[in-house]
Amino acid sequence: MSTPVYDLLVIGGGINGAGIARDAAGRGLSVLLVEQDDLASATSQWSTKLIHGGLRYLEYYEFRLVSEALREREVLLGIAPHLVEPLCFVLPHEPHLRPAWMIRVGLFLYDHIGGRQTLPKSYGVDLVDSRWSAGLKHRFRKGFVYSDARVDDARLVVVNALDAKARGADIRVRTKLTGARRDGGLWRATLADERGTTEVSARALVNTAGPWVKEVLDLVRPEKAGEGNVRHVKGSHIVVPRVHTEGHAYILQNADNRIVFVIPYHDDYSLIGTTDIQVDAFEHPHISDEETQYLLDLANAYLERPLAKSDIVWTYSGVRPLYDDGASDPSAVTRDYVLKVDALEGAPGPDRAPVLSSFGGKITTYRKLAEHAMRELAPYFPGLKPPWTAKAVLPGGDLPGRDRDKWLAELVKRYPQIPEALLRGLAHRHGTRAVTVLGDARTPADLGTDFGAGLTAREVDYLVREEWARTADDVLWRRTKCGLPMTQAQRDAVKARFS
Ligand SMILES: Cc1cc2nc3c(=O)[nH]c(=O)nc-3n(C[C@H](O)[C@H](O)[C@H](O)COP(=O)(O)OP(=O)(O)OC[C@H]3O[C@@H](n4cnc5c(N)ncnc54)[C@H](O)[C@@H]3O)c2cc1C
Repeated sequence: MSTPVYDLLVIGGGINGAGIARDAAGRGLSVLLVEQDDLASATSQWSTKLIHGGLRYLEYYEFRLVSEALREREVLLGIAPHLVEPLCFVLPHEPHLRPAWMIRVGLFLYDHIGGRQTLPKSYGVDLVDSRWSAGLKHRFRKGFVYSDARVDDARLVVVNALDAKARGADIRVRTKLTGARRDGGLWRATLADERGTTEVSARALVNTAGPWVKEVLDLVRPEKAGEGNVRHVKGSHIVVPRVHTEGHAYILQNADNRIVFVIPYHDDYSLIGTTDIQVDAFEHPHISDEETQYLLDLANAYLERPLAKSDIVWTYSGVRPLYDDGASDPSAVTRDYVLKVDALEGAPGPDRAPVLSSFGGKITTYRKLAEHAMRELAPYFPGLKPPWTAKAVLPGGDLPGRDRDKWLAELVKRYPQIPEALLRGLAHRHGTRAVTVLGDARTPADLGTDFGAGLTAREVDYLVREEWARTADDVLWRRTKCGLPMTQAQRDAVKARFS
């Protein structure tokens, strides 16, 4: 039996794989994306959830990355306003760590090198008796306010996959690439899923396997195993009850020159992170006691009400798949992405069976990374259509006036009998697709079992039907974060739905 031939086989359903699959499908290529676990099951769900230029990368002279990332803030606010929202940051001034002139220069660059359009400019503030110092010790007198944005990272992956599918891509979760070889100008790839193994053919491979990028490269190109290096740098976060009731985040400086964010997280929590630890074992990362203590100590140097280990309600860790640029300090390794293409020599363009591998990168820059990946692949696909994703709204992002509050008000009007808190959760997760989730429901009873934390059977069914959810964890921790405020009994009830 002949196997199907795809233009692209994308390996890895994190943000970069989903972004490339979407971009390529929109340019008319036939795309298959395989993800060995769930979409966003690795690094792309464990980020600090910021769409940011990365103020601190200026200190490492990463001007290209910062400028591109700053521009992408505005693009992503435009195409995914349901998942990306502006966020103000306060940097309390610590003169012995960084002088005020240095911070002013950094913020001036931040305001000017990235095509800022809608986000406000940075400015200095007096922190004495000010809302800008809510929750902080009283010793801080001066601070700086600047703007970036935050994102629901796992959902950004899912909406990219949804759009890729709508444009013809085949998205397969729980499907692992176990081998691939070049044969007559094509790749013959072996895929394993719960039903066994299958073989597919593709003109090009895209290796967006994140922390596994080197494993996949060695698998498909064993003759050059050892070339191309990735640095695995773990970062961990703790989640604690909300440390202040204002809407802004803090960026806190540490004596080791690192910074840590304290970010309002959902309604009742603050997210604190991150760390930078080089690791060899990168699967199933967990926060260590040292990282927990580091984050608590730094937070407690600033916060009025000290945090203890017993305040921590959740932790998570992820591993950055950074390109090895030879830096010795894990905090200094470049965060920029690097794309490497390996193709057969001597064959005509379309028959060279390229494999493109992606190292490093940020959630923030995934769309540009996808554009650059398509540029690298263009020689192998003559007549490839031009870039198109900068203005194409992602599924659910077509909010009236790009305004979440307006959209919520509209939903409240349309579904007067459904509690507003439930509608708010749906609006934030699904944007205008909340209407597809709700369907013909008019009353809470129409939504089926109420699992708690705003999750109902109707939404779970939707996530299974439309968004590739297969397990309770897919629903509780990636498609939603309802698992966080739920009790164990409530989580078990969702688990029972999948058994
Ligand atoms: C602690 C931390 C904080 C961060 N904070 C931010 C931030 O605030 N803002 C920001 O912009 N960026 C941030 N980042 C960076 C960002 O999260 C990553 O750059 C990005 O998520 C990498 O995405 P990816 O798609 O390359 O990899 P991943 O998300 O890891 O995806 C790779 C996927 O490939 C799959 N895979 C691997 N091998 C196979 C195979 N053989 N077959 C099939 N599938 C396979 C894996 O299961 C995985 O799902 C942070 C990173 C970390 C670790």
